[in-house]
Amino acid sequence: MIVSELKSVVGAKGWIDDPVELQPYVTEWRGRYQGQARLLVAPKSTDEVAAVVRVCANHGVAIVPQGGNTGLCGGAIPDSSGTQVIVALRRMQQIRKMSADDYSMTVDAGCTLAQLQKAAVDANRFFPLSLAAEGSCQIGGNLSTNAGGVNVLRYGTARTQVLGLEVVLPDGEVIDGLRSLRKDTAGYDLKQLFIGSEGTLGIITAACLRLQPAPKETNTAMVAIDSPDAAVQLLSAMREALGDSLLAFELISERAMRYVLRHIPDTRNPFEKEYPWCVLLDCTTSEGAIEQALHDTLENGLILDAVVAKNSAQAQSLWHVRHSISAAQKQEGSSLKHDISVPVGSVGRFIEAAESAVLAHNPGARIVAFGHVGDGNIHFNVSQPATGSADDFLLKREAIADVVYGIVAEFDGSFSAEHGIGQARRQYLDKYRSATELKTMRAIKAALDPRGIMNPGKVL
Ligand code: FAD
Repeated sequence: MIVSELKSVVGAKGWIDDPVELQPYVTEWRGRYQGQARLLVAPKSTDEVAAVVRVCANHGVAIVPQGGNTGLCGGAIPDSSGTQVIVALRRMQQIRKMSADDYSMTVDAGCTLAQLQKAAVDANRFFPLSLAAEGSCQIGGNLSTNAGGVNVLRYGTARTQVLGLEVVLPDGEVIDGLRSLRKDTAGYDLKQLFIGSEGTLGIITAACLRLQPAPKETNTAMVAIDSPDAAVQLLSAMREALGDSLLAFELISERAMRYVLRHIPDTRNPFEKEYPWCVLLDCTTSEGAIEQALHDTLENGLILDAVVAKNSAQAQSLWHVRHSISAAQKQEGSSLKHDISVPVGSVGRFIEAAESAVLAHNPGARIVAFGHVGDGNIHFNVSQPATGSADDFLLKREAIADVVYGIVAEFDGSFSAEHGIGQARRQYLDKYRSATELKTMRAIKAALDPRGIMNPGKVL
């Protein structure tokens, strides 16, 4: 009954119920979560999304919103009951309005991030959100996870890019908040509730996004250093020298670099030898200004070596190394990922403390630490020992997470910096958020979704 009602809302091309065709939509990017769905519907307008939600609400059937399904914590994957309905936004891909003068664009939630970056460039503007999955992740997913990526240092997370939102609530009503205002103090800022709530409070169907002036030029450099602490000091020195022009500041460990060179075709070490750590940075000042700033840090012994890309092909080749770390690490067997943040100044001490604590109990484990050091956000990944069983290693998931997150807490950090909670980290939310914070989150959930049909089993 519900299936035929939903099919008639979205029309012949708007649904999938064949279990084989559903496979990619019920399987997480890394294959770690596998669910089942009664049906996938792909509405092509906000009205259709609202109608779908009303049908599901009437029948008390749970909804799993899904964007590009690149999330890494199972948030977009249904449970194994086979009763849940996936609402995929992939047929909503219109740029509704490009307002270059207003430095804003209003877009459907199913637009891919890469599509929006290009639309901004075509209008001589810049949309700064950028991450390795940008070819397939969707802006609705980016906002629902409050995605970070490589330009947070200068422009902030996905949340900062939002001026207004359109959201379908769990009862099918629509909040039309697509205002492009820079200032608006009229009541609670409702859009902020939906950003970062991972589809548990409603379905984002469109967003009005803030655009930036197109940078006149972007230059890229890779810098060798001897420790993560030197990276933090270098960040400070480069900010003093280059001010706000620093866009990205990414840490790469020697092991991460080695795995990339070993497994990813068309990658090469930009230096003539191996260094223990390096930093990849993007900056919107001239090549000369970067070279001068780096020269000063070389003189005072802070850095060991540096290369500045001479053209965009060289810049892309440096970024290819950074973007390939996850794929390269996959080739080294199973790994446990910890997407954590600490205050920027503590990054070096955190990595040192976490590495020695993990190795104390797991000799042979291989730490692959890398990421957005400019935001204090490190992907502290632990690969299984070079020999031994992957399954035995994965049994240590909770024990190792407890060690890493315990040290994160000592540094007043967060166990979840940018990938969200999904179904992967719910127990840690209970552990590391206070009873009052959790009570407030549950009150918001109950107020908006009293029947609990919106992405149940995720976050809370
Ligand atoms: P999905 O995976 O489809 O969904 C994610 C969550 O959002 C789910 O809970 C889902 O229910 C919900 N959701 C999706 N669309 C909507 C909607 N329209 N309304 C309401 N809820 C919705 N993340 C970062 O933050 N920074 C990175 O640097 C980064 N790098 C990555 C690199 C790789 C190679 C990969 C595979 C992933 C990376 N990610 C990164 C994680 C992922 O790309 C982001 O979380 C992204 O924002 C998810 O977008 P998506 O469209 O794929 O969402």
